[in-house]
Amino acid sequence: MVNSEDSALAVQVAKLWPHREHEASLLLGQLCRVGLHRWRRLDLTAIVPGKDIRFCFWCSKIEIEGIVYPKA
Ligand SMILES: [Zn+2]
Repeated sequence: MVNSEDSALAVQVAKLWPHREHEASLLLGQLCRVGLHRWRRLDLTAIVPGKDIRFCFWCSKIEIEGIVYPKA
């Protein structure tokens, strides 16, 4: 279920993660497009306590509580 609060949060925390889209190869870009993201966890407990947030290493997608933002 999409939470508008988490959606706004995704926009906010996106600025904290320097994703590597510019370094990703064509193959990695393809993997992201089919939803095979390279998730990395960043410790944001000081900023957003209690949220399970993961960032894709190769694109600008963010997963919060199991939901991927921004929605494709
Ligand atoms: Zn990705």
